[in-house]
Amino acid sequence: MPGFEIIDDAERKEVLDVLETGVLHRYGFDAARKGHWKAKTFEAEFACRAGAKYCLLVSSGTTALSTALAANGVGAGDEVIIPPFTFVATFEAVVWAGAVPIFAEIDHTLCLDPVSIQEKISPRTKAVIPVHMCGSMAHIDEIERLCREKGLVLIEDVAQSVGGTFNGKALGTFGHMGSFSFDPVKTITCGEGGAIITDDEELYLRADYHADHGHDHIAGDRGLDDHPILGNNFRISELQAAVGLAQLRKLDLILEKQRSHKKVIKEALKSIPQVSFREIPDENGDTATFLTYFMPTASAARETVQGLVQAGIGGCFYWYDNKWHYIRKWDHFKALKSAAKLPIQLLDNLPDYEKIELPQSDEILSRAVCMLIPLSLTPEAIQQRAETTVDTVRKSL
Ligand SMILES: *Cc1c(COP(=O)(O)O)cnc(C)c1O
Repeated sequence: MPGFEIIDDAERKEVLDVLETGVLHRYGFDAARKGHWKAKTFEAEFACRAGAKYCLLVSSGTTALSTALAANGVGAGDEVIIPPFTFVATFEAVVWAGAVPIFAEIDHTLCLDPVSIQEKISPRTKAVIPVHMCGSMAHIDEIERLCREKGLVLIEDVAQSVGGTFNGKALGTFGHMGSFSFDPVKTITCGEGGAIITDDEELYLRADYHADHGHDHIAGDRGLDDHPILGNNFRISELQAAVGLAQLRKLDLILEKQRSHKKVIKEALKSIPQVSFREIPDENGDTATFLTYFMPTASAARETVQGLVQAGIGGCFYWYDNKWHYIRKWDHFKALKSAAKLPIQLLDNLPDYEKIELPQSDEILSRAVCMLIPLSLTPEAIQQRAETTVDTVRKSL
């Protein structure tokens, strides 16, 4: 489970470094900051870990997506293919960019289905945002190939799978940009924060300008900086970056614990032949933040989650009914066209999302049971949880 479970002296030390200098800004004040550059240090360590050339910290995962879209020139009139199973931030970023979200189906990875992406490509398609949901990955190699062949911008939303890899390569490095979130409940947290990574210097620079009012950060004096583009304020502060830096250095420990805890519960569930598991294209790259499995029917899945909650097991989800993560209950989004309450001009060709049908995604997600893997349970408590899970699943069959 998330990094907030293990906040300790490491985070306190990093934050105190910042407070002792009084420099909360991530840029400038070189003399006063006594050598502490928390945002810059985080960026260097995160880029190195991911094997990416550049990293930019921003204020949230949502602004990371907005920054990635802006840097790649995605805007009015463009269609962006996204999954119907994600967090609302993914479509929010697309809509606020003035672009049109187009939904493709998910497959048994719980992420975008490459076959369905292909079917949704139109002459207006500019970008694809696969979301590596619930700790594990999409068929990112196939999606990358498709985007390359079709000349589409590929932005990976890795908010829920930091530290994940596919065939040894970090998630977030397959496309033009990878986007991350360090919000209060993510695997590592800054309080609020996000990041983009890329290998492309020009994209990085555009992102850097965009996230700080268009400043080019060359003059060393903000009043003298040039503004190559119009920007926004999506900056991170040194305080948040300080917390994030301590958390980043714990990421391997977090992943190791999650993986060992998940294994115990998953192995126990394998004794039930009616249960099948979420497809994970590369098991070695799974962050193991969640365990997801499929029941034979929707009613059995719903009953299992109810049973687990009643048995006192926290962090169990039936995403099919969830209002944040699945399109079925995004009523405010579906009413976008009729309500027209946005202070931006929406495109005339906005699809009627009320009528959207995604039978493959419905079929898959309605049978899915998902459990957050806790960090701080003892081996005995994990064993107990595995037994309770098996009992509950059996009763629901
Ligand atoms: C959390 C999340 C985001 C947004 O991150 P914030 O930091 O909360 O703005 C984007 N996409 C997905 C899939 C997420 O889970």
